[in-house]
Amino acid sequence: MDLLKIGGLTPLTTIDYPDHLSCVIYCQGCSWRCRYCHNPDLLDINTAANFSWKKLVSFLKKRKNLLEAVVFSGGEPLLQKNLVQAMMQIKNLGFKIGLHTAGALPKRFKQVLPLVNWVGFDVKDLSSYVDSITQVKTSGVKNWQSLKLLLKSNVTYQCRTTVHWQLIDEARLFKLTHTMKAIGVDNYCVQFSRITKMLDSNLRYSVKAKQELSKLKNELRGIMPSITFSSE
Ligand code: SF4
Repeated sequence: MDLLKIGGLTPLTTIDYPDHLSCVIYCQGCSWRCRYCHNPDLLDINTAANFSWKKLVSFLKKRKNLLEAVVFSGGEPLLQKNLVQAMMQIKNLGFKIGLHTAGALPKRFKQVLPLVNWVGFDVKDLSSYVDSITQVKTSGVKNWQSLKLLLKSNVTYQCRTTVHWQLIDEARLFKLTHTMKAIGVDNYCVQFSRITKMLDSNLRYSVKAKQELSKLKNELRGIMPSITFSSE
């Protein structure tokens, strides 16, 4: 059996690990079902892998002088039972390790944190609202347990929240930003969902008028001056 179940690979990217050329491994499987998820093909852990571990290692050996980092994304990489071993093998090849996660398994997150150089961490919402986004009970507790583990570690990170206006309103986004600041988050990106195809077909295209959005961004900057914004 393969060390990791790989659903796909982006061989070269400049945007998935800050200031580094990297490749992205998409781990197959996620235990959550976020209503705005746009990776439905990666959710089922039982789907056959698209890329073998052996092929990945051989690919990485050939790209040693070009790539600086390997990012584990998904799906939810923490679901992979052999994630620690997989990261150790890749680290030993000389690459930095990036991880995109929502912290679905705090126990495994704690195990891999010492191996990871950078984390892109999805904060789904304030803890008590997370389950209604992921459609999975206790996901809010796990999301925030893992966030606290990340903040306790010395690993560099960016926290991100996907905003879809059918799932969160402005008042809650302000409260979430205040809470993030209060617990010491200093790198936070709000990602406005602009995706038309999502897991939940009841979600419509999410958009605000330009002026309204600009006002909102200024108010959020007033809470956390370092906050950044992107569209996905
Ligand atoms: S955590 Fe949510 S958005 Fe991310 S892969 Fe799983 S279901 Fe999709």
